[in-house]
Amino acid sequence: MSISRFPISLWPGVPIPDPPLIPPSRHDPDRDPESWLVPPLPPLPAEWVLRELRDLDISSEDAVAALARQYVIRDPGSQLRGTDSQLLQTLRFLASVWEQAATGQKVAPRTWERFAEAVLAGVGAVRLQVRYHPDKTADTVSPAPVDLYTAACIQIHNFIARGEHARACANETCGRTFIHQQGGARQQQYRTDAKYCTPHCARAQANREWRRRKQAGKAETKPKRRPR
Ligand SMILES: [Zn+2]
Repeated sequence: MSISRFPISLWPGVPIPDPPLIPPSRHDPDRDPESWLVPPLPPLPAEWVLRELRDLDISSEDAVAALARQYVIRDPGSQLRGTDSQLLQTLRFLASVWEQAATGQKVAPRTWERFAEAVLAGVGAVRLQVRYHPDKTADTVSPAPVDLYTAACIQIHNFIARGEHARACANETCGRTFIHQQGGARQQQYRTDAKYCTPHCARAQANREWRRRKQAGKAETKPKRRPR
């Protein structure tokens, strides 16, 4: 699949480096007046929008509240409007549009329009950094932390910028769309030919097929004609 299959143009059209995330405690001065000193959280796990977000029960207030304790879903200073669960619904919509397009399904023009607007609302919040380093140790410049909405939009933006291929997990009870298999022994080394989203799904399907073969083998050894 090439980028040109998407009716979406990007500028500058290159992947955005994954920024760190704003820690929730930074916005809770009552609990800890020094909380702004809390370091940012590491970037979102790879394919978060296709995995953790997909598995989240957005209709559950408890599940959304638990996520809000982990991440700042919307920076209070941001231009975005909506509740946490509305923003999570928007993110899930964005991920599903990408999934549909990347698996060759048709996406309506109005849907693409909403997609472009909502992704831009997220990635538009990324701030560039320019710092003066009198001692010339410029390696201390770090990207400004972002909220969860922006981090998730960056992931989706980058799927398009990289022209990623989507595949459906071959574990028949999984149904997840993924890009690279995750959770293997060597996390950093992606398998590009993976049929399964995780090694767990590969084992589950292999076991299922083995049980089926065993059942089929049993059936074959049974007498073909039973005496009546
Ligand atoms: Zn799977």
